[in-house]
Amino acid sequence: MSDDKHQLAVELKLMNGDGEAEQMAINYWALNSEGGWRYTVREVASTAKISQIALTQRLRVAVIARDPESPCDQCGFGMTASTRTELDQNRRLSATRSMVCTPCRLEVEEAEKQAAVERQERLVAEVQQRFGHRDQEPVVTQDLTLRQAVSLLALFRNPIDENYTCSIPLKAWLGEQYAARSEDGRKRITELWNAGLVTVHPSTPPSAFGWVEKDDTERAGLYVDAVRWTVRGSGPTGSINAALVKSVRTAFAGSWPDSWQFGWADEWDAVMLEEATAYLELCMEDHNLDFNPGERTRDVLADALNYFSLGALYNFIWRAARDSAAYYQRGGVPRKQAANSAIGRIERVAERALAESWDVKAYRRDRRLPWSSVSTTFFVSLLGIGDPMTITPENVTLAKEVTPNESDETEDPPTEGDSV
Ligand SMILES: [Zn+2]
Repeated sequence: MSDDKHQLAVELKLMNGDGEAEQMAINYWALNSEGGWRYTVREVASTAKISQIALTQRLRVAVIARDPESPCDQCGFGMTASTRTELDQNRRLSATRSMVCTPCRLEVEEAEKQAAVERQERLVAEVQQRFGHRDQEPVVTQDLTLRQAVSLLALFRNPIDENYTCSIPLKAWLGEQYAARSEDGRKRITELWNAGLVTVHPSTPPSAFGWVEKDDTERAGLYVDAVRWTVRGSGPTGSINAALVKSVRTAFAGSWPDSWQFGWADEWDAVMLEEATAYLELCMEDHNLDFNPGERTRDVLADALNYFSLGALYNFIWRAARDSAAYYQRGGVPRKQAANSAIGRIERVAERALAESWDVKAYRRDRRLPWSSVSTTFFVSLLGIGDPMTITPENVTLAKEVTPNESDETEDPPTEGDSV
C-alpha cells in the first residue's frame, strides 16, 4: 500500500511507533481515483479485525492527521482531524471563516491574557501616577468651602480603619450611607477630586479603575464610588486624614470663615433637597412606581422646602405616593404617568398648606432611611441641630457667636440678590 501514500486525504504523522495503526490510518484516509474514500470505515475496521469504535480510538492516539485543504490561519499547517466527519466539518467551516488550530488558539489566548494583565498594570500605574497619593501641600481647612468641609468630614469621620488610613469606598458603605442619594455622593467626591483635595490611596483595588475613551485615545479613569480616597497632604495618609478630621471639627466649633457664614443656608437647601428626594424615591418604590426624579421634581421639592420642614415634606410625599398608587390601581393610566402625578400632588398640597396656613404635622424619620453621613455632619456636627426633621433654616439659632469682620449688618442672612 506504500504507493498509495500520495492519494491520502491528509498528511499523517506517526505518534508512538505503532506501525499497525499507521497502516490502518493509511487505509482509513486513502482516496480512490475519483477523490472519494477508497474504503468504507467498516472495511478498514474489518481488515484490522477491530470494531469501528476501537479503530477511531486507536487512530486518535497513534497518528496526527492534518488536512492541507483546511489550513490554520495562523501557522499555515493543515487543521488536524481525527475522523472523516471532522475533516468534512473543517472543510465546510474553512470555506466561510478563518480556521485556527488548537495550539495556535492557545497561543493567542495566552498572549491576550498577558496583554490584558499588562494593560491592567499600565492602568494602575497611570492612575497612581496621575491621581495617586504623594507628598503635596496639605489642605488648609480655613480655605475650604463649607460644602467641601462637610463632604470631607462626612467621608473621613468613618474611615476604613482605626488609623484613618483611607476612606471606605462609597459603594461599600453599609447601613449608614455617605450621602442621602448615591448620585449626590458621587457628585461630592468628584468635586473634592476635581479640586485636588483628595487623592487615590495605593490600596485601592484595580477594579476601581478603567480606561476612558476620549478623542480616539484611551486615558486612565476611575470610578469615584469604588476608590479608597485619602486627603491631600504630606507623609503617612493616616496622620493626614486624622489631622483633617480634627481640624474641620475644630473649625466647625470655632468662628467660621466669611464664606461659611454666608454659605450655610445654601448648603442647607442642597442637603435637604437630597434628603427629600431620597424619601420620595423610597415611597415610590414602596408602591412599585417607577420614578426618575428630574428637573421638575427638584423644583417642586426645593420650593416646598423654602416653607416647610423636612418632616412636613415627608407628610406631603408619603400621601402623594399613596394617592398616586391608588390612581394607578383605579386603572386607565400608565404606571409612569401615575408616578409622575405624585409631583403635582406634592406641589398642590404644599401650595394649599401655605395659602391656608395649615399646621402640617411633621413626620418622623423613616427607619429604613437613616441620616446619611453628610446630613449628620451638616446638621449635627456643624449646626448642632438635634432633630432636623422639624426645623426650617430661619428657625436655626447658630450656637456660635457669628462675628463678621468690621460690619454691622449681621442680623439677616444674605439673600441671593445681595452684593457687597
Ligand atoms: Zn495553527
